[in-house]
Formats: sequence, C-alpha cells, structure tokens
Amino acid sequence: MASSVQDPGAKSTFRRYREGDATWRSWREAIFQAGQSHKCPTYVQRTPPCQGSCPSGEDIRGWLDIVRGLDTPSAGQAWQEYAFRRLTRANPFPAVMGRVCPAPCEKGCNRNERDDHVGINAVEQFIGDTALAAGYRFDPPVDETGKKVAVVGGGPAGLSCAYQLRRLGHRPTIIEEKPELGGMLRYGVPRYRVPAAVLDGEVRRILEMGVEVRANCRVGRDLGLDELARDYDAVFWGIGTRLGRKLPIPGADAPNCVDGIEFLRAFNAGLLSAVPKRIIVIGGGDTSIDVTTVARKLAGQDPGAPGKPLTYTADMVTAQAAFGGARVALTTIFPLENIQASPREVADARSLNVDLHGGVMPVRILLDGDGNARGVRYAPCRVEKNQPVRIDGGAEFEVDGDLVIFAVGQKGDLTGLEALNNGRDAISADALFEVPGHPGHFVGGDIVTPHLLTSAIGHGSIAAEGIDAYLAGAQPAKRPKVDKHQFDLLRALHHAGLELTDYAHDAVRGTCDAGFAVHNFDDRAEREIIKSSDLFLGHYAPEPRIERKERRLAEVFAVGGERIETLLAEQAVAEAKRCMSCGLCVECDNCVVYCPQKAVKKVPKAQHAIGRYVFTDYSRCIGCHVCHDVCPTGYIEMGLGE
Ligand SMILES: Cc1cc2nc3c(=O)[nH]c(=O)nc-3n(C[C@H](O)[C@H](O)[C@H](O)COP(=O)(O)OP(=O)(O)OC[C@H]3O[C@@H](n4cnc5c(N)ncnc54)[C@H](O)[C@@H]3O)c2cc1C
Ligand code: SF4
Ligand code: SF4
Repeated sequence: MASSVQDPGAKSTFRRYREGDATWRSWREAIFQAGQSHKCPTYVQRTPPCQGSCPSGEDIRGWLDIVRGLDTPSAGQAWQEYAFRRLTRANPFPAVMGRVCPAPCEKGCNRNERDDHVGINAVEQFIGDTALAAGYRFDPPVDETGKKVAVVGGGPAGLSCAYQLRRLGHRPTIIEEKPELGGMLRYGVPRYRVPAAVLDGEVRRILEMGVEVRANCRVGRDLGLDELARDYDAVFWGIGTRLGRKLPIPGADAPNCVDGIEFLRAFNAGLLSAVPKRIIVIGGGDTSIDVTTVARKLAGQDPGAPGKPLTYTADMVTAQAAFGGARVALTTIFPLENIQASPREVADARSLNVDLHGGVMPVRILLDGDGNARGVRYAPCRVEKNQPVRIDGGAEFEVDGDLVIFAVGQKGDLTGLEALNNGRDAISADALFEVPGHPGHFVGGDIVTPHLLTSAIGHGSIAAEGIDAYLAGAQPAKRPKVDKHQFDLLRALHHAGLELTDYAHDAVRGTCDAGFAVHNFDDRAEREIIKSSDLFLGHYAPEPRIERKERRLAEVFAVGGERIETLLAEQAVAEAKRCMSCGLCVECDNCVVYCPQKAVKKVPKAQHAIGRYVFTDYSRCIGCHVCHDVCPTGYIEMGLGE
C-alpha cells in the first residue's frame, strides 16, 4: 500500500480524522497528506434505494443484474429461471406484483436523478409471467423439521409466511375462511387487474411445495384458539381487514349505502345485483378507484326481468361497451392534484368519464320518502392532519345518486378472537412481528396496519424467520437497520465455483495480500443506503425508459384482455441495462482504465465473481482518488474500510 516517502518508518494509521469529521476540509487534504496518502480504495457494498423502498425487500439490483446478463446462471439453467429464483427469495408473487404493486421502489430509484427511474415493476412482471409460462416450480425443502405452524388467513401475508416457513423446512397449514386463497387479491382487487390464471398459478406453486390448506374454516368460529394451541407449534395471523368502514354522517345507514369491500367482493364473486345508473363513491384511495371503475363498468347495464334476482358476471358486462347514460361520481376530501390513489388508477377513472370532485366532504346522505339514499350533500373542505376541515363560507352542494358506496378504509373482524384485539380492531406486532403477550403467535399484513400487498408479503417473510427462531427455542436475531434481501459476496463466490481460503485477517488487513474474497471488501448493506450523490451519474447516458403497453380501462371493458402487457424478452433486457447497479460493481472498467498508476487491475477470469471484478495493487496506489471519482456505482471508497 502507499506509504510515507518522507518518513518510511512512521507508523501507518488509517485514522486521519477526529470523531465527528464528516466532510473534506479541502480537496488537497482529501487526497494528500504531506505528499503521501493512506487513502487507498476499498470496496463498499451498500443497499440501493430501490431495494430500500421495496417493502418485501426484494434484491432488485440482483435480479436486474441477471436479466441484463451481468450475473450469469450455472450451466443448464436459463437466465429467466435464475432471475426468477433470485427474485422469489423475497417475494413469491412476481407476476401479481408486476401488475398491481404501486412500485415504491421506482420512486426511490437513483436513476430518477439522471433521467427516469428503471422500469422495475415491468421487468418484475416479465420475470413472473415467464416463470408461469415455463412452469417453474419451487423446490420443497431438503430437511424437514416436523414442526407444524397454523397460518390463519390465506391472503398475501399468510401465503408469504407459509412459503418462507416451508422453505425453512416447517409444515405450515393455511386455515382460510373462504373457499379459495388469495385474500383481497381474489376478493377485493378486480379481476381485470389480476387475471385469475395469474393469481391461481402463483398460489398453486406455493401449495405444491407441501403447504396444506384447510379452506372454509373461520378461526374464532369453526376453530378455537385452544385447538390451535393443541395442534400446532406456532401460529401466524394474517387475517387482513375484511370489514369496510362507513363515515358517521346522518343517513349513512340507509339500505342503499354500502361499503366498497362488500361491493367488490360481490363483483369478484361474479354476483352483483341491481346496480343503478347513478352511483356516488366516497373515497380517494386506490380501493375507491377500483370501486369506481367497477361501478362504472356495471352502472346502467340492463338489470334483467323485474322480480328476477340479478346476476352480473364480469364477462357479461365486459362484452358491453356502452354505459347506458349512467353517471358515476368519485368524491374525495383531498384536492384532485393530491388524490391518494396512484396516477395510473386515476387516469383509468378519467378514461371512463367518471365525475371527480376533490376538496369536498360529505355532510349528510339525502334520503327519499322511503328512507333510501337519493344523493349526498357536500361542503368544500381542506385537509389538516389527514382530517377534513370545512372551509368557512364555502357553499354546500348536492350530488344525486341511487347508490352510495363508502370506500374510506377497512378494519379487522376479530369476532371470536377478542383476546388478540388491541382495541382498534387490529392485532399489535413487535419489531419481529410477534404478538406482544402471546408467545408463539406472530402476525402480519393489513391486520397490523392496512397498506400494500408488498408490505403484507414482507411482514409474512420476517415473521417466518421469527417463527423459525421460536421453534428452535433460539433468541431471534435483531433485525438490521436496512432489513432487505441483500447481495451476498460469499454466495456469489460459491456460485462462481470459488470457495474461500483460510487467511490471517489481522496480518493481511489493509494490504492486497488477502486473496480470500475481495480485499478490503466492506459490506455495509445492512446499515447504509447509497444515495445518488454518491454515484458518478455522468457515466450513464440518458436513455428513455421502455414502457409496457397499457390500454385504457374503457377499452379493456369493451373488448376484454389485459390492461398491462408484459415486456418482450429483449425489452426486459434493455430496461434492466438502464439500472446503474447502485452500490455494487457494474464491471464498467472505468477504475482500471483511468487509474494513472495502473494500480487497479481486473481479477483473473477464473477468480471472477459478481462484486469481485477488480483489485488494487496497493504498492502502486498513490491515493489519488481517480478510481473513486470515476466509479459510477459508488462501490469504491477511499480509506481502506474506515
Ligand atoms: C379493493 C382493494 C384494492 C387494492 N389494490 C391494491 C393494489 O393495487 N396494490 C396493492 O399493493 N395493494 C392493494 N390493496 C391492498 C392489499 O390488497 C392488501 O394490503 C393485502 O391484501 C393485505 O394482505 P393480508 O394477507 O394482510 O390480508 P387479506 O388480503 O385481507 O387476506 C386475509 C385473509 O384472511 C382470511 N381470514 C380473515 N379472518 C379469518 C379467520 N378468522 N379465519 C380464517 N381466515 C380468515 C380472509 O378471508 C382473507 O382471505 C387493495 C385492497 C383493496 C381492498
Ligand atoms: S414488490 Fe413493489 S416495491 Fe417491491 S420490487 Fe416489486 S414493484 Fe417494486
Ligand atoms: S439504478 Fe438500479 S440499483 Fe440503482 S436504485 Fe435504480 S434500480 Fe436500484
């Protein structure tokens, strides 16, 4: 490594800064200290912000590296399968998520600072759809523990937990009230957003690992807590929030005021009777958009012969393009520019000519002489701390409607499970998703806090690790600050057919003699997320994002088919190549090419693995920082691991 030319005998120290020093005092000082420097390159892995923003913690950079061809599969395996297996370590639902996840990962993506985020969600859908088409299956575990776990609720949280438990060798049984699994994905999210074949395919793959199912069984009614305790070694609660809420305004209990969850459940079951022509939806979030679009789809359809129970199936109404002069209004307390629902969903509603009213609060339901709702009276409002506040002097107005649907939130149904109710119709969880005061009982998903599918999947996965520790009688490991599925250098070496050699860590630390992995590799992924300011963004030429073909809902309703088309393989590869590989070597050769001392070299091909592409000859390094400055991914730090 670089050493003092003035005083070769001086003791090397890696510490040139006082505690609390965070920035360079001068550029000269950053590089040289009295003509020499000990600040040679070190290789630091950090978590990219896409992964940091994905609630199920997918190793996004990892599977994008596979799709782009940087990380190659073992002989005989297709890259599509390799990518699928990397992705599904965290999330067994890529085809579903690729369609309905609002993709917080894309908001976090560092590429937003260059031109536009990477189309992570689109590549995820490609991986999921390819896997379904190719029939990839999950392997059953190699070792069985024989431990039985009751997973109550077969929604995304329960399915994710059962999947991870099975991977760990346990025997989960999903106990589900409904005849089929999927939770809100099956009974809430409309079918035109997630086709049944896609959902069925991804659920079936989990069950085929050896996950048992007990359907049509409601815990708390058909099965008691004492029976769970008797028959199982641990319990996971993923029972979601199946009850819709109504607003406490006068008239809300009129018979034609319903909640959105019941409305969608009936639609997805293919059974929805008497949908009138004028419908008012009160909401503003994604659920209310689903309610609105379904209402728009059904409103004004021919109700059939009088006196006959009405049955609409999705296919019947899909065949009809005309909306029969029906009017559907969606109202929200938020100004329309701040509506909570995702822009894609709002655009869908607009494409269906839904009347959108923002910044208004319902003050009462207007009733006719028979006590049925005939409309809603509104007042203009602003939102403070998520609550509507009436604007003084704002004129009230009325919207006419024959059906009022509340889509303003959900709550859990803990009938028969009162011991678990935290008083807010929810179940509390600690940091490891164990229920406080109920050892062996874990929980996740909407029943903890209603959020997204990806959050429920993440909860299920973390809870499975907690259950695993509980079953082993071990103290569960403290969760890291950045709790995601990470790149693992040892796994990468193993994949490349390289195994570690013994070495004397203290003797070789800070030198280039440590041939065990990447010398001076520092894995900070569990505590640091790499920012765009740590990258050399100028390396990446602007490149437009490859978008999936999306059709407006009006067209989907008219002619059927999917709303979002999956990418072609070459499009997925091209899009994955836009990833900047934040926080991990992208094998661009910049550091090798630009090092003025020729101190940075490529590792021999036979020793190459992801993350181990270059090494520094410290006897040549003068600490000039050039490699650090030209590294586009922020993988090189100066300071030998400080
Ligand atoms: C209309 C709608 C649209 C949505 N759209 C999106 C979207 O586009 N993207 C997104 O990310 N999220 C969306 N969400 C949110 C997402 O669906 C939920 O966050 C997710 O389904 C929560 O999963 P879960 O497993 O916790 O609960 P659920 O999906 O509700 O599953 C719970 C399961 O437990 C079962 N159960 C309940 N009680 C019992 C009991 N006592 N015994 C046995 N079984 C029981 C239920 O029948 C159900 O199958 C939407 C939600 C709704 C309502
Ligand atoms: S699950 Fe959602 S947040 Fe996670 S990678 Fe997929 S799209 Fe992004
Ligand atoms: S550029 Fe790639 S690694 Fe970086 S945040 Fe975006 S998707 Fe993640």
